[in-house]
Amino acid sequence: MQKIAVLGAGLGGTIMAYELRDRLGKEVEIHLINKGSTYSFVPSNPWVAVGWRGREEIEVDLRPACAKRSITLHPQGALRLQPSENRIDMADGTSLDYDYLVIATGPELAFDEIEGFGPEAHTQSVCHIEHALAAKQAFDRLVANPGPVVIGAVQGASCFGPAYEFAFILDKALRDAKVRDRVPMTFVTSEPYIGHLGLDGVGDTKGLLESALRSKHIKWVTNARVKKFDADKVTAEEMNDDGTVKTTHEIASAYTMMLPAFRGVAAIRDIEGLTNPRGFILADRHQQNPTFPNIFSVGVCVAIPPLGKTAVPVGVPKTGFMIESMVTATAHNIAALINGEKPDAQGTWNAVCLADLGDGGIAFVAQPQLPPRNVNWSSQGKWVHAAKIGFEKYFLYKVKLGKSEPFYEKLALQALGIDKLKSVTFDT
Ligand code: FAD
Repeated sequence: MQKIAVLGAGLGGTIMAYELRDRLGKEVEIHLINKGSTYSFVPSNPWVAVGWRGREEIEVDLRPACAKRSITLHPQGALRLQPSENRIDMADGTSLDYDYLVIATGPELAFDEIEGFGPEAHTQSVCHIEHALAAKQAFDRLVANPGPVVIGAVQGASCFGPAYEFAFILDKALRDAKVRDRVPMTFVTSEPYIGHLGLDGVGDTKGLLESALRSKHIKWVTNARVKKFDADKVTAEEMNDDGTVKTTHEIASAYTMMLPAFRGVAAIRDIEGLTNPRGFILADRHQQNPTFPNIFSVGVCVAIPPLGKTAVPVGVPKTGFMIESMVTATAHNIAALINGEKPDAQGTWNAVCLADLGDGGIAFVAQPQLPPRNVNWSSQGKWVHAAKIGFEKYFLYKVKLGKSEPFYEKLALQALGIDKLKSVTFDT
């Protein structure tokens, strides 16, 4: 019996394991390796950080769903991948052999690249549930003792949507607490302009987000390279397009939350032929690694080059729907290999994103992700906030049930004209 291992049970890895089971039936063994036996819905973390969600509302115990789908869950975590030997060495000293591997380990958060950065030092984070819970305590202190706030994303970050979301969510939570008038807010970002999002903008995200920031009295600094975080201020250089320093800002801050740059996790980093210098997994358009053809990758761990040169480095975001398209292509391609065929499915890598702005929101669709695009659409409205809640509830329901894509989800996506797979190609 063929043995397929999925490394990482986050947004990509859980549905990867389910979709493999759907496609391949009981004829294969499926192993899901994670740090712990709980799935946590990362997109809800900004809500956790202001107390709009509790941990129990956004977490799912993976054990019942895995048992139901005959997926063996390994909660001890991986220590190191040995791709030449088709083996994963686990954190508890055991090991797991595989015939095929899908890496879905998400990001390691590179807080150590800037002095004073991260929840162990002077800033808050919403990237992990534990960080979001700690950020909620800092939010309570801010409400009790209001002061200036800095929100944003640092140099090398790729995940800009959550930075904007959190600025607007915090604005709303502070208004609800009746202290917003004592909290000057500044949005500091490495993007060359507001609404770039690592995608050179989508539709009119520049106009929509600038207008939203203005209307909420949030000042901004773009092209920013943060030099240092202190307990009471953020020091950031604003760069010119030619890479010279335009101004150095020292912005007072009693509460700072900035998205960090990402890199690959230690278990898979620095493996010749598998990863790029930042530890992201090299994958071709079929999600397959060129050096180790039995290894595929999905999600934030996949290496995607930046769109173009910017004064300060920015990465390309990997959003939920794009990750789901990688998952569908990978399941299709592993099934092809098992059947003695060539992998031919490609994910569309469309960027479809709902950015919650606290009470309303901005949605965008970039199809394909790289401009020029066939669909380059963004829109604003209260419906986006409601749709984001729908996305959360539906995704958690899917994970709990052990389903990758129930029928009506397919229907809804097709009605929108958005497909997960490019039409299958037969070139080599
Ligand atoms: P993750 O979900 O991070 O999962 C990685 C998994 O790998 C984790 O369970 C981790 O424990 C496991 N792992 C890591 N190392 C090991 C190891 N050595 N051994 C075993 N397991 C390991 N996208 C959207 O489309 N919409 C949104 O609203 C949205 N909001 C976001 C908000 C935030 C704050 C962030 C950070 C991202 C957001 N994203 C959003 C982007 C993206 O969808 C998420 O980051 C998503 O969780 C990425 O999925 P993933 O599977 O690649 O990684």
